[in-house]
Amino acid sequence: MKKTIALIAHDRKKDEMLKFVLENKELLSCHTLIATATTGKIIKEHAALEVTTYLSGPLGGDQQIGARIACHEVDAVFFLRDPLTAQPHEPDITALLRVCDVHNIPVATNVASAGLILRCLKGE
Ligand code: PGA
Repeated sequence: MKKTIALIAHDRKKDEMLKFVLENKELLSCHTLIATATTGKIIKEHAALEVTTYLSGPLGGDQQIGARIACHEVDAVFFLRDPLTAQPHEPDITALLRVCDVHNIPVATNVASAGLILRCLKGE
């Protein structure tokens, strides 16, 4: 069944996100993809997948995606955070993870778990 997956990658994780998307393009193409601005732009340009984009994370994109999660419009979140660099929008990142927990939405913060979730969604 077609699901909505949110893709977000911090700057130092964007290459990793693109690699993950290219490796899993066939599976991802079965779903509706949404993303923060720059992450989505890279995926559209380099993987030629359709992606609905929101604002960039630091400009409120995490909050926009969080609002969709709260409205039960997102089925999974692949959020490649940079664990080694402080982000200006740290409160938004915490809020996004929190809203996933509040609404019991699967959230992956590394490609290993994103891959597992993606394969599980295939069976649903
Ligand atoms: P971006 O936002 O995809 O626009 O870079 C992600 C982030 O840094 O939170």
